[in-house]
Amino acid sequence: MSFQNPVFIPGPTNIPEAIRKACDMPTLDHRSPAFARMFRPAVEGVRRVLKMEGGEVIILPSTGTGGWEAAVSNTLSAGDTVLAARFGMFSHRWIDLCQRHGLNVQIIETPWGEGAPLDRIEAALRADTAGKIRAVLATHNETATGVRSDIAGIRRAMDAAGHGAMLFVDGVSSIGSMPFEMAAWGVDIAVAGSQKGFMLPAGLAILGVSDKALAAMEGATLPRTFFDFRDMLKSYAGGGYPYTPAVGLIAGLAKSVEMLEDEGLENVYARHARLAGGVRAAVTAWGMRPYAAHESLYSETVTAVKVPDGCNGTDLVKLAADKYGVAFGVGLGEVAGKVFRIGHLGMLTDVMVLAGLATAEMCMADLGWKVALGSGVAAAQQHFRGTAGALALAAE
Ligand SMILES: *Cc1c(COP(=O)(O)O)cnc(C)c1O
Repeated sequence: MSFQNPVFIPGPTNIPEAIRKACDMPTLDHRSPAFARMFRPAVEGVRRVLKMEGGEVIILPSTGTGGWEAAVSNTLSAGDTVLAARFGMFSHRWIDLCQRHGLNVQIIETPWGEGAPLDRIEAALRADTAGKIRAVLATHNETATGVRSDIAGIRRAMDAAGHGAMLFVDGVSSIGSMPFEMAAWGVDIAVAGSQKGFMLPAGLAILGVSDKALAAMEGATLPRTFFDFRDMLKSYAGGGYPYTPAVGLIAGLAKSVEMLEDEGLENVYARHARLAGGVRAAVTAWGMRPYAAHESLYSETVTAVKVPDGCNGTDLVKLAADKYGVAFGVGLGEVAGKVFRIGHLGMLTDVMVLAGLATAEMCMADLGWKVALGSGVAAAQQHFRGTAGALALAAE
């Protein structure tokens, strides 16, 4: 029965029925025109979701991690320098991946709970008078801590420093849920995955690649085969794929974009902001707070709830799964036990979020935490009551 419950993990997210149906299809010859007819709308749809101008969309059978690897291996060479701030598990993993590829990562160590530090990024770029830094890596939404970074601000810092590096952005837990402006922000590679804002099963890495990054591809010497953009683009030109594509997932991706656009991207973003507001109202009513260091950093897709001293966030996550059949996210790395995470992205409504908050409260009571049953739910109810009208108007 627990399969009836929505998940409240920050990915994979709940899969809408219409997307499950779109993925479920008979075998289709990927060298036939029928595949091209399905593939093009998916590619063009992703281009609109990312707000791209020029460049190419690349869709790989992989996950977000493969998207990171594809971004660096297609554009850089061993020994190249990249600049990255580390402030959570996901920014850390991308840095680790770069190091394992023989890149020289100039790391800006930043406390977990903070976002990308614009002033230190600008200072590092100004200090790089030899122009060694080839790319700036940024994690738009640090899923481990529920922190959003200011990508437009990073672009401004790069421009202020007069630095010509490329800007690579991990948007795996933000794209399709939070405003993302690839062209306006001057993003050279945007990385997304199928199982978060796109509400699909895991299995696709989805990338937007700018013309500047495509030009860098020609001189890049890091080894790549499966992820080679050049092979992809050559096959795309004929409406095909260099190897067997994940046809069902691509059909689902076209459906996903259709659903996002039917709701309207602005409405999708507003819905996520509203759900996040309700979750944060509950967290405050519990006498807790988000792990993010400042309000301006609060993520609209995931809240890492800092648990009181003497409490263990992992206990809550385990109990919710075992007793109530509901999934929340555990704290990762440095914040293991110190937080539990509520994912509020993808196919969620205010009504579903209230169920998740109620379940979290039952677990807190079961664990003997000092939280009154219903306190967070009531705060979220007030938030949702107060904002419902605005949402209905926006949807008209
Ligand atoms: C989920 C996630 C990833 C990628 O994870 P995969 O499991 O490889 O899809 C990367 N970055 C962020 C910020 C994420 O939330």
